[in-house]
Amino acid sequence: MADMRLIVAGAGGRMGRTLTRVISETPGAVLTGALEAPGSALLGKDAGVLAGLPENGVKLSADLWSLSANADGILDFTVPGATIANVAIAAQRGLVHVIGTTGLSASDDAVIKSVTGRATVVKSGNMSLGVNLLAALVKRVAQSLDENFDIEILEMHHKAKIDAPSGTAFLLGEAAAAGRGVDLHTHSARGRDGLTGARRPGDIGFASLRGGTVTGDHSVIFAGPFERITLSHHAEDRMLFAHGALKAAMWAHGKKPGLYSMADVLGLGD
Ligand code: NAP
Repeated sequence: MADMRLIVAGAGGRMGRTLTRVISETPGAVLTGALEAPGSALLGKDAGVLAGLPENGVKLSADLWSLSANADGILDFTVPGATIANVAIAAQRGLVHVIGTTGLSASDDAVIKSVTGRATVVKSGNMSLGVNLLAALVKRVAQSLDENFDIEILEMHHKAKIDAPSGTAFLLGEAAAAGRGVDLHTHSARGRDGLTGARRPGDIGFASLRGGTVTGDHSVIFAGPFERITLSHHAEDRMLFAHGALKAAMWAHGKKPGLYSMADVLGLGD
């Protein structure tokens, strides 16, 4: 089978550069395009050099339509506005679209869902095996414990992260809510400050810490009467997410259109 031809969106970003490195080390995958924001100072630069590799001849461009003429998939770790703009082109070109971008709104999610009748999309707030396994465990524990156990999700990331809570915190919150059989939107507490009153029974709480160079730490705490259970995951390097994203793209290549999750890719579904 021919190599899967991939575009990295946000090729100048932290994840983008990591993806370029991982693609260069992965048999069966080849980088054919590197997308950056219109007006970026990095346009025209070599994606290999930006990723700390020898020159690879793939120059950063802001024109996805042209890049996608010679591609099978796009790995998208950018910002919500960019991802939503990419969705339509990826669908029109029949590309596998792996979406790692976080901070997407409900209406962004609706746009993504609207194309999945004709496009193959894998979307996850966290592409690592460990976090997806953790989500499966969280769902199971939440199923077993009643509302006497308060669920709190704590996350910490590097100081440059622009959205909160993290996409992974939401993924874990959704798993806890599914275990409890409730809707996360109506059962969550997103940040507390001042005279908040007592905790609302049944809420799933979120707290975000930012600082330093932390790749991503997440804990789900089940706090009951006189005891606590804590399930945690610590990401040590963003290579982890890049490997997951690439695995997702290669898994989805040739799959029928639809919206897939990392749990599907990793075979962790119910
Ligand atoms: P980053 O370093 O800020 O990279 C984002 C890149 O996207 C930047 O180079 C940015 O360029 C570029 N960009 C902005 N608008 C664009 C456009 N219209 N077209 C193409 N590129 C555009 O951030 P990061 O740490 O790599 O993270 C990126 C996203 O991935 C975040 O949402 C983060 O939360 C998420 N993430 C997800 C996972 C996961 O497993 N799902 C793991 C890690 C990170 P400018 O700087 O010029 O704006």
